[in-house]
Amino acid sequence: MKIIDAHFHYSKIAAFKLTSKKFKINYSKEGFIRETEENQVVAGVCMGLTETKQYKFPDKLASTPMNFDLDEMPPNFYFSAGINPDKLSKDNLNELEKTIQRPDCAGIKIYGGYYQYYFTDKIYEPVYELAMKYDLPVSFHTGDTFSDNGLLKFSHPLTLDELACRYPTMKIVICHLGNPWVMDTAELLYKNENVYTDLSGILIGDKARFNLFSSQELFMNIYKTCFIFANRYDKLLYGSDWPLVSMKIYIDFIKLMVPEEHHQKVFYDNALKVFKKIKNIS
Ligand SMILES: [Zn+2]
Repeated sequence: MKIIDAHFHYSKIAAFKLTSKKFKINYSKEGFIRETEENQVVAGVCMGLTETKQYKFPDKLASTPMNFDLDEMPPNFYFSAGINPDKLSKDNLNELEKTIQRPDCAGIKIYGGYYQYYFTDKIYEPVYELAMKYDLPVSFHTGDTFSDNGLLKFSHPLTLDELACRYPTMKIVICHLGNPWVMDTAELLYKNENVYTDLSGILIGDKARFNLFSSQELFMNIYKTCFIFANRYDKLLYGSDWPLVSMKIYIDFIKLMVPEEHHQKVFYDNALKVFKKIKNIS
């Protein structure tokens, strides 16, 4: 089955480098290409992110838009332009508008919890205006934060309900299913037509860690229950959060929790509907 990965990373982030090394993942262009080829991952969207110094992420000095800088992006792979809300001057917004017109820019990414503003804060309004002007989806980091100085009140998925109502034409992608607040995400998927979710980052780590959790029915049922409640398999997007886990481990994990009859949609078709710049190469 051909797969689109709607959430991976492709930037020189020191903390990601350290974590991927621990899990024996080759965090380089070569490593990325090898894993995509081995797993039939034919397209995807990296979440734009940069840091001005090692271990600075979430970096208050990084300029908007944050793009990618691991290497050149392989063909058929795209990025979402990352936003630093403290860097939204007129020049930044002009640069963002130029960037989102690039054929390889498929969306915009906002880092809730890391940058400490509510999604409904006025500071983000010009960004949302641009997203709607160019009909690009906005992905929002929600749920647990990778660094312990993130603030969870700014990454709770329920705070996106107000935004979804305020901008009904803007496509909202809740990253990481809002984990662990997945029932809140389920309600948003059910209630708000413009809300989608990616399934990346529910777990990170190596095979032993995935086996420990995926073998426990009570754990897997949390996510299965969320999917059953929302009953919107047309709004779930596969994503890996690579390089924080190997692509193979994560694909197998999501296959265990999504019923097989929905795999084609979740692993491929839904991403094409949300990220309209991705070319269908099936
Ligand atoms: Zn991520």
